[in-house]
Amino acid sequence: MRLFTIGPVQMSTDIVTKFRGGEQVPYFRTPEFSQLMLETDHLMKRLVHTAESSRTIYLTASGTAAMEATVMNCFTPSDRLLVINGGTFGQRFVDICNIHHIPYDVIRLPYGETLGEQHLLSFADRDYTALLVNIDETSTGQLYDIDLLHKFCQAHDMYLVVDAISSFLCDPYDMDRFGIDVTISSTQKGACVEPGMAMVVLSNRMVQERVLRQSVRSLYFDFKLYLDNFQRGQTPFTPAVGICQELHASLQCIDEIGLEKHLAHIATVAHDFRTKVQALPVSLPGFPLSNAITPILFDEPIAYRVFEVLKDCYEIMVNPTGGPLHDKSLRIAHIGETDCQNNDMLIEKMQQAIADVKAGR
Ligand SMILES: *Cc1c(COP(=O)(O)O)cnc(C)c1O
Repeated sequence: MRLFTIGPVQMSTDIVTKFRGGEQVPYFRTPEFSQLMLETDHLMKRLVHTAESSRTIYLTASGTAAMEATVMNCFTPSDRLLVINGGTFGQRFVDICNIHHIPYDVIRLPYGETLGEQHLLSFADRDYTALLVNIDETSTGQLYDIDLLHKFCQAHDMYLVVDAISSFLCDPYDMDRFGIDVTISSTQKGACVEPGMAMVVLSNRMVQERVLRQSVRSLYFDFKLYLDNFQRGQTPFTPAVGICQELHASLQCIDEIGLEKHLAHIATVAHDFRTKVQALPVSLPGFPLSNAITPILFDEPIAYRVFEVLKDCYEIMVNPTGGPLHDKSLRIAHIGETDCQNNDMLIEKMQQAIADVKAGR
């Protein structure tokens, strides 16, 4: 099976061979493992473009846990948050605020609309503590304008919390330049390794002004324990040790290639796919897209059937789309071990799958 999915992704053969090829998972309360984690952290901060004074929380959990833990550790019911909700992942922040009784307002972005200044303006005269955004709303593929959001937060003295799970290491991202206070990421998307770990990078001001002063009604998700333990490169509880090794290897590899070059490759593959896919009876949305994933819209309601045929007959996995676009849209990822030749193969198989579905095969 070949994966053109956003997470898990088609992992590099090197990493699969090295870490999934029969090696034991090492014991981790050792100086050697601490060293590996500290190196990982150094790379994380370099790749996310933040100062060494920022701090990272390494959670053994999926990305959603990191979103929830961020809200629990940074905000209280005396705050008021502004949430951009342009799809499934924006809605997830809304659900989290509800569960934790954090007051909020929502900027609801209807499908197909590009987020612009006009959406923010009607919320400009209310007092908010922070803006929560999924910078690539993976369910639609829209990449929001970070500069616009940064300027809004700066003008209104708000913290900026960015779920960059499907954008970090796929699109250009600069935490400090855009005044970002929290970057949420996870292992199975841009870092292209197994699912299981989430990394939350906190600005120094978020640590000092919020996290260290917060009393969190949770043991496992209390960031203070993680901050304290990480002084020596450790986590308070057993991490997914094997995935920590994979993450270290992956970040090291990206750093060696060079981040710019790494991003340029993904951009090239995405652009190549977007050009070639026009040979099929599909269209692309008009809003700005992340390099990570291309949503395609079918002229006829056959998207889910095409997904099934690709999976069952051609050993190809793409992302189906949930909700109202279930039969209209598929999403194709461009991250992990993939290139323009894989696009040729994919387009050819998609053409066949569409023909199969239309012929009722
Ligand atoms: C994948 C993803 C998540 C997290 O999903 P999990 O299944 O919990 O790992 C969160 N936000 C965005 C934007 C994502 O793409």
